[in-house]
Amino acid sequence: MSETLRNFIDGELVDAAGGATNPVVDPSTGAEYAVAAASGAEDVDRAVQAATRAFDGWSTTTPAERSLALLKLADRIEEHADELAAIESRDAGKPLQAVIDEEIGVVADNLRFFAAAARTPEGKAAGEYLEGLTSIIRREPVGVVGQIAPWNYPLLMAGWKIGPALAAGCTTVLKPAPSTPASTVKLAELAADLLPPGVLNVVVGGNDPGKAIVEHPGIALVSLTGSVATGRWIAEHAGKRLKRTHLELGGKAPVIVFDDVDLETALEGIAGAGYFNAGQDCTAATRVLASPKVYDDVVAGLAEQAKGLVIGDTTDPETTLGPVNNPNQLERVTGFFDRAPSHAEIVTGGKQADRPGYYVEPTVIANLRQDDELIQTEVFGPAITVQRFTDEAEAIAWANGTPYGLASSVWTRDVGRALRVSNALRFGTVWINTHIPLASEMPHGGFKDSGWGKDLSSYALEDYTVVKHVMASLE
Ligand code: NAD
Repeated sequence: MSETLRNFIDGELVDAAGGATNPVVDPSTGAEYAVAAASGAEDVDRAVQAATRAFDGWSTTTPAERSLALLKLADRIEEHADELAAIESRDAGKPLQAVIDEEIGVVADNLRFFAAAARTPEGKAAGEYLEGLTSIIRREPVGVVGQIAPWNYPLLMAGWKIGPALAAGCTTVLKPAPSTPASTVKLAELAADLLPPGVLNVVVGGNDPGKAIVEHPGIALVSLTGSVATGRWIAEHAGKRLKRTHLELGGKAPVIVFDDVDLETALEGIAGAGYFNAGQDCTAATRVLASPKVYDDVVAGLAEQAKGLVIGDTTDPETTLGPVNNPNQLERVTGFFDRAPSHAEIVTGGKQADRPGYYVEPTVIANLRQDDELIQTEVFGPAITVQRFTDEAEAIAWANGTPYGLASSVWTRDVGRALRVSNALRFGTVWINTHIPLASEMPHGGFKDSGWGKDLSSYALEDYTVVKHVMASLE
């Protein structure tokens, strides 16, 4: 009998009410390897009640106590690094070596940052703004929060969600994506003796428990990392209930390449940031805009980089490109290729790889126009497009000319141009001569349809707090 991934509510692993389950599949083979609780509104309600009971105690712990719990959790994650990496690799279809090298340590570091940040907030100076009355500003945890995660970085996203929430003194109901519950359930198990019951609850299932989180009156803030469509649904339904929202949505990162760069180094960096995690990264370097002088070399160089990737078993250390996460995503990504307009040139790739599982060939598509679907809509797969711009103004206009605003990069040795262009780009992040690195201390979050609210950094901690004014009479 296959393993059952269960909910974690009030400090215990429990089945979904009614006992229903969904299959969990290894994307590198397409084979079912476990089942997971198929939770619904009843399970969410149970989790919210547990989180509500835990809130008074957790929100009044000292920052030092919350910090210590997060530090212990970070240590625990490192102690179980191999196990967590294997779980994540199988569940999400990631090359195992990449999870070990790029993800587990980062989750631990993110939690350590929030452990430290928990101890830093302090109010403005209290003072008498009216005669005989003292004013004090307090930053308090927003309450019980609902946190909804996507499938591209399940463990990392769980860390990004719970780090600032728990540091701020909130209690949480966390829902992983339907296809990738395993590492989040394991994280909760690892945290079981480090956090009081009810502080961290995990509810596993499809979109229904997500909707129930949005609609539950006991949830004060809903945080989503997911698609723009889901973000819109949540904004609308949370809005009706006047709930706070924190939305990290999709991206379509432009990468502006001027002709004064060292092209070899730049293309290596761009391909690395475009194909990492099979392109399923909301900041992926996916939309290259090349200056006319280097356009042909950029197209050829990126195709060469794509051909150098190794598609293979996710457990093989040589593998550099894994599958996309699920059959829907496979269909979605290849659908973009099938619908490519006749003027588009598929330079390499452009189809499903000829092997079991949900693998897509690394793809480069040139000759696209600004209003093409492949330029305007997030693909979220291993596909890089290249457009030829005529001058700096056109590059900026095209870069800004999609609904998204999460991340972008500009590649040039000219300092003035780099800063001028980065000022003009309407994105939450602009990288200069690099693309994709994130630091725990620095904010990550979008403009425009990429949402609002920040992950990472002290800005995320602020997002999980509310400002209170206390005024006392001196009489
Ligand atoms: P998705 O929006 O379909 O699902 C995300 C999560 O929302 C899942 O847990 C899902 O069950 C839940 N959900 C879906 N509909 C819901 C609803 N109506 N109410 C409540 N919850 C609901 O996205 P996905 O396909 O899992 O993830 C891929 C998308 O996420 C991409 O578009 C990608 O760009 C985006 N993403 C953004 C970031 C970021 O930081 N901005 C990071 C990773 C992924």
